[in-house]
Amino acid sequence: MNTEATQGTAPVATRTISVAPEQFRISEDGSTGTLLGSRCKECKTAFFGPTRYCRRCTSDRVEPIELSGEGVLRSHTLIFRAPSGWTGPEPYALAEVELPEGVAVRSRLTDWTEGEQLEIGSSYEVVVTPVGQDEEGNVLAAYTWSRTGSRS
Ligand SMILES: [Zn+2]
Repeated sequence: MNTEATQGTAPVATRTISVAPEQFRISEDGSTGTLLGSRCKECKTAFFGPTRYCRRCTSDRVEPIELSGEGVLRSHTLIFRAPSGWTGPEPYALAEVELPEGVAVRSRLTDWTEGEQLEIGSSYEVVVTPVGQDEEGNVLAAYTWSRTGSRS
């Protein structure tokens, strides 16, 4: 929780908070995020997010790891009617990006524009995207994909 908040007239420091803290850790300043996963010590298979047992060999010798923030587009689908509660643009592109660890991570492609053709195999990097705000004014953010090199 935010311990910087003070009473009176002092400005309240707000933070950027991950909506999926077990899968995505956001830096103190909110500018960068790290995808989190697990790796089986037996068969070396990596997974997105925490897991107690290896989903391949069922071993419980699983350790938490940081995943790469960059991967290649494996598949995508266009969403023309978003699920209820969606506040982003419509239509939007939902994609699976495969990381070097062999893990596929599904999220929105933030810089896709309607009508644009997507190319399987092109590079994407994970970015921190604000999706809302909590009652204390903190920014809630999720991981999404952006074309590699599209921001500097
Ligand atoms: Zn395993």
